Amino acid sequence: MSDRELYCDTCEGVQPFEVPPCPDGHGVDCPELLCTGCGTAVLIATFAFQPTRLADRRRRPSPGRHAA
Ligand SMILES: [Zn+2]
Ligand SMILES: [Zn+2]
Repeated sequence: MSDRELYCDTCEGVQPFEVPPCPDGHGVDCPELLCTGCGTAVLIATFAFQPTRLADRRRRPSPGRHAA
């Protein structure tokens, strides 16, 4: 049982959050946390995914070369 302190919008302050029983089998890696103050569930996805460089993967426009 790991507690983390995060800002809770509902409580309008920093509250200890705890990992809820996860039905998805994430275990301690579950990105969901429950505010112990109000019970609001929040996702902490910051570590789960990194902002990938989607900009680098955008499709290039086709060469668009006109027949000479
Ligand atoms: Zn989970
Ligand atoms: Zn709260």
